[in-house]
Amino acid sequence: MPKTSYSIAVLPGDGIGREVMDAALQVLRSLESRTGRRFVTVKHPAGAQHYVECGESLPESTLDACRQADAILFGAMGLPDVRKDDGTEIIPQLDIRFALDLYAGVRPIRSFPGLPGPLASPRAADIDLVLVRESTEGLFFARGRGRIEGEGDAAAAYDTMKITRKGTARVCDFAFKLARQRKARGKRGHLTNVDKANVFASMAFWRQVFEERAAHFPDISTEHAYVDAMALNLVMKPWAYDVLVTENMFGDILSDQIAALVGGMGMAPSADIGDDYALFQPAHGTAPDIAGQGIANPSAMLLSAAMMLDWLAERDGDTALADGARAIENALGSAFASGVVRPREFGGSSGTADIVRAVIEGL
Ligand code: ATP
Repeated sequence: MPKTSYSIAVLPGDGIGREVMDAALQVLRSLESRTGRRFVTVKHPAGAQHYVECGESLPESTLDACRQADAILFGAMGLPDVRKDDGTEIIPQLDIRFALDLYAGVRPIRSFPGLPGPLASPRAADIDLVLVRESTEGLFFARGRGRIEGEGDAAAAYDTMKITRKGTARVCDFAFKLARQRKARGKRGHLTNVDKANVFASMAFWRQVFEERAAHFPDISTEHAYVDAMALNLVMKPWAYDVLVTENMFGDILSDQIAALVGGMGMAPSADIGDDYALFQPAHGTAPDIAGQGIANPSAMLLSAAMMLDWLAERDGDTALADGARAIENALGSAFASGVVRPREFGGSSGTADIVRAVIEGL
């Protein structure tokens, strides 16, 4: 018997994070009668503004609330002028990934009819891929551990890339299972491993572990690609890919690139998933250049909320939530296809509230 009530830890954060989060909460609220499920959403402090006011960016009480909730909804965090003493930005999203061991960064993108992307080819309408980024090690292992040795002309800086068998195997398994799920839904079910195995020992090791895991998923076809060639091919023929899996830093870069393929950061949702917890957030940042103007595109946040419903549906076998996820996607898709709204990123004039209104009417 599925639950009738789900607890959601809500971390709006900074800048447009707060604006798109309000949009998502309105949409979730309006889904309650349709799904017959209650979403108990409680906001918790974290982010750069909270750091300015209280001296900490991710309070332990907020982390505890995340651990106790069914799922975590996250806006965006960080402000360019707010820095720690060592000059680095406040990035609690990285701290949460490590604290809750959210090792699989899931970054899906697809084209929406009615929203023209930057690619001229008519095949751009077929873009529908998911990038899975390892999120707990790789080059980001170096965060806070980098060192500079020597002085003057002899000075050299070092950041270490860490690739473990366990960390690589679990994210590869996650990507294989995702490809399998997509295959069951009529998609290709093909997994592309992205690495730089021709140069780095760490990446050759990553590829070896990928191949070990591939033997456990004989129903999934695979290929290898070097990250530089992949950067090219994701522009030349992104419609040729289904699921990609890659190291943390490569995934960081490629996920922004694929967001551009469908028109911008406002269209790219994401999830950070571990064995025990899952967090859902738009792939974009706090966008200080447009914050406070009511013009942020909330689509990425709304699609992230749909991913959350899908994840809970799968975890609890609750099909009403999967229906809710499809309803959000369809309402957004219809609003764009009919031309009722067009985000400013696409040369339109629809603000955040216009898009939310259109989605709620569609629901
Ligand atoms: P981070 O380092 O936190 O990822 P960033 O500064 O690299 O952040 P964003 O904050 O995502 O990048 O902003 C990049 C550009 O995309 C900015 O010009 C911003 O206005 C635009 N942008 C980001 N999100 C949206 C959105 N939801 N709607 C409209 N424009 C957006």
